[in-house]
Amino acid sequence: MDIQSDAPTTPLSTVRDNIARSEKIAGRPAGSTTLIAISKTKPVDAIESLIGEGQMVFGENRVQEAALKFPALRERYPDLQLHMVGQLQSNKADEAVALFDCIHSLDRPSLAKALAGAMDKAGRRVPCFVQVNIGEEEQKGGCAIAELPRFLADVKALGLPVVGLMAVPPADLEPAPYFALLAKLAREHGLDQLSMGMSGDYETAVRIGATHVRVGSALFGAR
Ligand SMILES: *Cc1c(COP(=O)(O)O)cnc(C)c1O
Repeated sequence: MDIQSDAPTTPLSTVRDNIARSEKIAGRPAGSTTLIAISKTKPVDAIESLIGEGQMVFGENRVQEAALKFPALRERYPDLQLHMVGQLQSNKADEAVALFDCIHSLDRPSLAKALAGAMDKAGRRVPCFVQVNIGEEEQKGGCAIAELPRFLADVKALGLPVVGLMAVPPADLEPAPYFALLAKLAREHGLDQLSMGMSGDYETAVRIGATHVRVGSALFGAR
């Protein structure tokens, strides 16, 4: 905490301070974590109020909702970055490639093919995280851990720009072991970016090496 600062404390300033402290504890460079403000279900004016505090990176989990909220915002704020963090249907690949700057939910061969085709058509390469079903939960999205080597080889063969791994650990369990496992898998595959950590556990995630945290309710209030 900067004791000379007389700027008011806001949810965003608190999250930024917590991230900075966690980076320091972990011996990581200051500013090495990207904070993605997850604005799903939140109105445009709530997004603009974070933009007013200098937050430029946002995330949504539905193509349709992002398409309603973000094109107008992007015209006003050309530096905005929009990340897709939710399950993506293959038939929305074209729209997703047009709308988003990064996709965190690449998790199956059919979607990989659809995204590769969409990127070729659009002449636009959108960086992707491969989502891993890190807790091996039946109902959850994400590539199975056992399938990961083959899936990563497939997406590379398709020419998709894969930058790292993403996961959502099981609810109500200590998340640190799952974050550590995701970090280990990324290392084994030579990937250096990690999308992990949400409102309840982003500080833990940063200490374990998250390069991208996805924080919604701690910034915008409960949904
Ligand atoms: C909603 C969502 C988040 C943010 O969750 P909070 O607990 O509100 O911070 C992060 N990641 C994904 C994939 C989400 O769907």
